[in-house]
Amino acid sequence: MLVEKGSSIGAHILSGAVIKPAVFKELLPEVDFSEIPFNAKVIKDKMVLLSENGHLTLPFHIPYMNNIGNYTASLGQICKYLAVKAEEKGVEVYTGFAVDEILYKDGKVIGAKTKDTGLDHHGNQLENFQAGTSIEAKITIFAEGTRGSLTKMLIKKFNLDKDRNEQIYSLGCKELWSVPPGNIEAGQIYHTMGYPLNNDEFGGGFIYGLNDNKVAIGIVVGLDYKDPSFDVHDAMQVWKTTSFVSKILKGGRLVEYGAKTLPEGGYYAIPRLYVDNALIVGDSAGLVTMPALKGVHLAIKSGMLAAQTAANALSKNDTSEKSLQEYETLVNNSLIYKDMYPVRNFRQGFTNGLIAGGFHFGTQLITGGAGFLGRLRTHPDYQTTQKLTEYKKKLFRERFKGKLDFDKVLTFDKATDIYHSGVYHDEQQVVHLHIKDPATFNAVNIDQYGAPEQFFCSSEVYELHIGKDGKKELRIHAENCMHCKTCDIKSPGDGITWVVPNGGNGPDFQNM
Ligand SMILES: Cc1cc2nc3c(=O)[nH]c(=O)nc-3n(C[C@H](O)[C@H](O)[C@H](O)COP(=O)(O)OP(=O)(O)OC[C@H]3O[C@@H](n4cnc5c(N)ncnc54)[C@H](O)[C@@H]3O)c2cc1C
Repeated sequence: MLVEKGSSIGAHILSGAVIKPAVFKELLPEVDFSEIPFNAKVIKDKMVLLSENGHLTLPFHIPYMNNIGNYTASLGQICKYLAVKAEEKGVEVYTGFAVDEILYKDGKVIGAKTKDTGLDHHGNQLENFQAGTSIEAKITIFAEGTRGSLTKMLIKKFNLDKDRNEQIYSLGCKELWSVPPGNIEAGQIYHTMGYPLNNDEFGGGFIYGLNDNKVAIGIVVGLDYKDPSFDVHDAMQVWKTTSFVSKILKGGRLVEYGAKTLPEGGYYAIPRLYVDNALIVGDSAGLVTMPALKGVHLAIKSGMLAAQTAANALSKNDTSEKSLQEYETLVNNSLIYKDMYPVRNFRQGFTNGLIAGGFHFGTQLITGGAGFLGRLRTHPDYQTTQKLTEYKKKLFRERFKGKLDFDKVLTFDKATDIYHSGVYHDEQQVVHLHIKDPATFNAVNIDQYGAPEQFFCSSEVYELHIGKDGKKELRIHAENCMHCKTCDIKSPGDGITWVVPNGGNGPDFQNM
């Protein structure tokens, strides 16, 4: 049984995406490959260094970043296709059900429960109250994607991240455009580095030429940046104004917008993947390779290995931790390990800026990933934001003064972009963004950091409200939430917890 919070399969799925296809042949050996709804095959792949007024196309690829032969795709469309295949094989798929509780018996996972609905803001039952459904299972597989809200609880309860690196994340903002013929070829992809990011900001842009004159564009920025006013959405708008990107979008129109985080901590940040009766797969387990920015094939492979482990465990009638340990062994003998281990130190090397990162990466390339310093550590992203008084460089808004007046042709404010993501939330429900300690939060977060949520949120959920008496408070417009989870990751002091809203709420992505 698969339980999905999106109103349909794919509604909450967002990726680049350029996908490594081999795993699909393994997953569906009986299927004609051409039946899988990939978009264009990558035929041209370039890396471009951007400056404010120009660009340089690199004559080489950074190691691990060559994509020739991979496929562009809307991951949402691929997921829709896979759901049909799964149903044909007997899987029951339930969409529009948000799971908000792990069920335990004698300290062991025995399933999960979907969220109660029909509550008002204070949690009082309304006429349409419906209690959530308890689903008991011999094995529960946590496949919630990035920063899974239940997976987070599971990892904490069983201390599954003991001796592992802190998981760190990036936020990706993406737009899908329809452009005039000739602007970009289907199967032509670009990855950009440089402008508008500075030395402290790890990330870059992607431009993927799709069939039917569509192009997927976006930027992905590490959430370990320091500037308390940094704004990934607005940085993407500035990026679009460069001559290189704007030329590709010229004469086109925005079709869809979305945002999502992705785990970047790599091999050393993978938690223990099993406990009694439960397994963790995909982004929830941190299975993404950097610098390739690839997680789709690893999510699928981990699902296959989890299924194999579950089948073995059920046939032995032994779903204990000892039996499910097989999953971690299979992962460590699979392409997941092969892809992630050689770049195990990659992302950590960049936490002190691009120059240090470039140096570390060079040493890792000649030492098989070890580097000269061995295992590098990380800090959680909520610790890296600096206070306003500590941050000595120009704040984001000063840095891009004059470039943040969006023209609604090439560049868009968040409100307009959100409109293009189909976001909807029931008005009557308990706010799904929990501020841990409101008094301290306001004092520290607003006064010392300048309420960074108003900037880092990809969908204008957080508004700094200043009353007539000068009192400042952070207002929460939960109805805008894109489910990107940035606030759960980046809020100073780990001040905000994201929990699932009502099932079926959230974005309604069509082709992300
Ligand atoms: C901007 C961006 C670009 C990327 N580009 C690429 C790329 O080009 N190539 C590549 O290979 N990878 C790329 N990735 C990474 C890739 O998208 C992920 O690694 C992959 O989608 C992970 O799959 P998953 O199944 O683990 O999680 P997801 O794809 O996030 O799926 C998780 C699903 O679980 C549902 N869910 C979560 N919590 C609950 C709950 N409590 N109750 C019910 N349902 C729930 C969600 O709604 C969602 O549908 C990119 C990611 C981003 C953000």
